[in-house]
Amino acid sequence: MEPVSTGVALRVRTDDAPLEGSSIGSIPKVQAILGPMLETQRSAMTLSSFIRLAGACLAAIVIAAVAGRAWAAGEGAKTAATIIAAAASVESEGSKTRFKVILSKAVTAQVSLMERPDRVIIDLPEVAFHLPVEAGRSKEGLVASYRYGLFAPGRSRVVMELTQPAVVSGMTTTPDATGAATILTIELSRADRDEFRRSAAENAPPAKEAAVPVVQGAKDARPVIMIDPGHGGIDPGAATSSNNVVEKDLVLSFAQRLKRKFEESGRYKVLMTREQDVFVSLGDRVRAARAAQADLFISVHADSISGGQDVRGLTVYTGSERASDADSARLADRENKADAVAGVESGDMPDDVSDILMDLTLRETRSFSHGFASRLVGEFDSVARLNKNPHRQARFQVLRAHDIPSVLVELGYLSSQKDLDLLMSEEWRGKMVSAMSSAVDRFFATRFARRGAAAVLP
Ligand SMILES: [Zn+2]
Repeated sequence: MEPVSTGVALRVRTDDAPLEGSSIGSIPKVQAILGPMLETQRSAMTLSSFIRLAGACLAAIVIAAVAGRAWAAGEGAKTAATIIAAAASVESEGSKTRFKVILSKAVTAQVSLMERPDRVIIDLPEVAFHLPVEAGRSKEGLVASYRYGLFAPGRSRVVMELTQPAVVSGMTTTPDATGAATILTIELSRADRDEFRRSAAENAPPAKEAAVPVVQGAKDARPVIMIDPGHGGIDPGAATSSNNVVEKDLVLSFAQRLKRKFEESGRYKVLMTREQDVFVSLGDRVRAARAAQADLFISVHADSISGGQDVRGLTVYTGSERASDADSARLADRENKADAVAGVESGDMPDDVSDILMDLTLRETRSFSHGFASRLVGEFDSVARLNKNPHRQARFQVLRAHDIPSVLVELGYLSSQKDLDLLMSEEWRGKMVSAMSSAVDRFFATRFARRGAAAVLP
């Protein structure tokens, strides 16, 4: 059977793009309709019938545009979430490299390119990736590595790092041997720098919708704590060499436990920048904290760091234009690339300090951040193995809210086996959560003493 070009899929995506802004829920619906159409009509497809199908698809889009809202409201928007990616491979042949993924259902994919580093980005509806842990880790042809995951609710993404500039020379879907699944193939061809740049300019990745603001009623009198589990979705963060432990999962489960602990006393309102395995940009993390009028922002990480087994132990970071040391500067640089990892242009940071008033607020806020960091280190000291310099500073993007005291806690380093053993220990986690809870109590006790008791009353 001839492969079916999904050029139409690209057009469909282009045409349905405006829908995303008006009704997020309608997109999976459109894809759910297109999927079966492609599947049932593909078997006896000729060029002319394919063109007719293209017309039918576009007609379906028009109907969807009209009825999108009603469908989204009436049937829920989660229908497309059951697409499964069962296998993926990269094959190279001469100057071409093909990325193939076996999907349980035909989907519309949108492919785009980004420079520095050179990447190919494949946007898909929400896909559950059931791939082996080693998938995407080895170099093949033009593909240095690839990663995959949830990019936003309802949207998944594959990001391929390239070994050299390349352009997309083909995209096809074919049924697999059983006819039950679909193979999506993206073909890359070697290109020169100019050609890559031109193609990247023409095919910029779709923007991520602005994060849904944290839903909350009037701010209650309780202090608001925003917990920020690092990474997520397409951005896995650090991983152990066996890939059995991934930072994004480890910090999410720790953050959930921390949230429950903070909530125990009923004294705080506790929110999280992400509650699931989803990508959240650095800017959106800061925006979520500001939208919630958070009084404290705690980012939780467990990174790897070069320097091997020597570098270990819990470390608390605060934001600063000048890094306290070279290791911290490198770590912040790497963390600040989280958006690039997910194929998002950075530079949409809120709170770029632009006026003198903001600058003054930032200085005051940073002294509170330092105060909280010292309390944290003090509490951790008796229960944790601390880094030899446990309070460090660097220019972390996520610590840039000018009016919210913010810290980033490295629970430990996945690059250290000793740290990893602790991080996996329930008992150790329990101690850490209690220590952080005590530090939070002390921090707010001091703040409210300074503000006067009236500040905490309704
Ligand atoms: Zn991290």
